[in-house]
Amino acid sequence: MENFTFHNTTDIRFGKDRFDQELKDAVSQFGNRVLLTYGGGSIKKSGLYDRVMKALPGLQVTELAGIEPNPKIASVREGQKLVKENDIDVILAVGGGSVIDASKVIASAKFYEGDPWDLVLDSKKRFAIDQLPIVDILTLSATGTEMNTGSVISNPETTQKLGTGGPNTPAVSFLDPSLTYTVSKWQTAAGSIDIFSHLTEQYFDQKGYENDVRNGLIEGIMRAVIKWAPVALKDPENYDARANLMWASTMALNGLPRTGNVNSWTVHPIEHELSAYYDITHGVGLGILTPHWMDFVYSEATRPWFVSFGRNVWNITGDDDDLIAKEAIAKTREWLASLEVPTTLPGVDIETDENFAAMAASAVKVNKLDQKAFVTMTEKDVVSLLEASMK
Ligand code: NAP
Ligand code: FE
Repeated sequence: MENFTFHNTTDIRFGKDRFDQELKDAVSQFGNRVLLTYGGGSIKKSGLYDRVMKALPGLQVTELAGIEPNPKIASVREGQKLVKENDIDVILAVGGGSVIDASKVIASAKFYEGDPWDLVLDSKKRFAIDQLPIVDILTLSATGTEMNTGSVISNPETTQKLGTGGPNTPAVSFLDPSLTYTVSKWQTAAGSIDIFSHLTEQYFDQKGYENDVRNGLIEGIMRAVIKWAPVALKDPENYDARANLMWASTMALNGLPRTGNVNSWTVHPIEHELSAYYDITHGVGLGILTPHWMDFVYSEATRPWFVSFGRNVWNITGDDDDLIAKEAIAKTREWLASLEVPTTLPGVDIETDENFAAMAASAVKVNKLDQKAFVTMTEKDVVSLLEASMK
């Protein structure tokens, strides 16, 4: 096991209907001037917006609406202007990963005089400045952003979608599973796949194999997602399904499962290229790529990981390790297909390979996939993976 530091200060408030009573104190501990951030309107449609406003009497609320899925730098720039003009004390982010991700960079941008895209390009700049506290109400189980320091921001002008880290996790996260009853089947499937992918990215790691604490954690969260995603799809108001997915989202990417390993991700960086070029739903892209990536990385050398994955996650028994590993990949493929989202790139309207070379070059360069992945990938390997994902 490698040395590690685990430090996470997010105050988690899990459960139904808590924020109506607790939100005002959670927010006002940081001041009276609040920037309320949200997305394209789902919180107005569901009635959540009215509940939030009712819970904040006496506070001075400025709004930034319309943060889009795969949040764009333009929204962050707008947020930067608002936090500066209104001398905001705290950001209240109400929405999915996109709203919370954008809010984190806006929180840093209050203390930055230049263009916030600089902060995305170079996270070190964010560690040199302050960051406003964030309180969030999560409405979609997927990213884990509710308990981590990460954000992913897109810049359509440069066709880039980049991850960036900051100094702080959200100060307080309200996790109310019932707020996800209204999430569509598409987003429920995509979110579940995102959680699952966060887990595979961390499980299949060069240095993690002997870390049974980490492996057991990840395998348990994987089993929860595999079990409850189909239930939530069939029965959107099943509280246990929504609760398991929400807590799995948080636990999968709050730093715990990565303790003691190297953690070099592969599928996410490649998916970020798909989203940067075609603005597709992150989790759907991950689901298309993952089985092909498993085919690519599976070998005698990586067999032990796949055998544990097969035995402990998919409950496959037997003595033939090669068969167990291959069945585990087949079962992963089957589960992804059962979630009723596309399993090929043409399924998300990516009909030609015209951008594959550019996307592969960028994925390899940004994340050094040819040097430090679970199994390293050259640009040619990434192009082959994208080609395999066409059918
Ligand atoms: P999202 O992009 O925040 O939201 C997707 C859609 O779901 C939006 O149209 C949103 O509508 C809708 N929605 C959200 N909550 C809803 C609800 N309760 N009822 C009905 N509709 C609802 O989705 P996400 O998967 O959470 O976030 C994806 C982004 O996070 C991507 O950019 C991805 O790359 C990034 N990501 C970040 C991390 C991280 O650690 N920070 C990790 C993985 C991925 P409205 O806009 O109308 O609200
Ligand atoms: Fe993700």
